[in-house]
Amino acid sequence: MAVDPLEVVLWPDPRLRRPTKPVAAVDDSVRAMAERMIATMHRAGGIGIAAPQVGWDRRVCIVSGTGDPGDEIVLVNPRIAGEEGTFEMEEGCLSFPGISAVITRAAKARVEYLDLDGRPRTLEAANLLGRCILHEVDHLDGVVFSSRFTPADRIRLKKALRALEERFASGVPSGGPR
Ligand SMILES: [Zn+2]
Repeated sequence: MAVDPLEVVLWPDPRLRRPTKPVAAVDDSVRAMAERMIATMHRAGGIGIAAPQVGWDRRVCIVSGTGDPGDEIVLVNPRIAGEEGTFEMEEGCLSFPGISAVITRAAKARVEYLDLDGRPRTLEAANLLGRCILHEVDHLDGVVFSSRFTPADRIRLKKALRALEERFASGVPSGGPR
């Protein structure tokens, strides 16, 4: 059965700054939204997506170390339970088309979450997957990657950010090109 993708919510839509609410029960409606988020992520060519990026205010995100179909991990009510070290890596975000910046984050992260059967799980990840987990869990707390830009990147990317802000202010619906 084909799954309908959703529109990607773009910066500076205020929905990206709102912390999400925990999922009370992992039921069919949550599983259906997770499927749609996965479809949205693949259509946009991403390796992760968080519920606020599709306008959903629940604590659910998808991460993938590769972006390949079948490699998705759905995290329900994720909580970062441990972080180790730091490393720098260039990041982009589906909600900030055309913008990328080197962000410093933990080199390794441990996340506790529920899977789509509602079972508690723990995942430890480094490199791209660890990075992806930290980026997406940030989204669930209403934190976007631009708030982690260095002062120099803030200046370098000022014009590009302003273009997104002007596009939003002009009433172009939040959502990527179809
Ligand atoms: Zn993002």
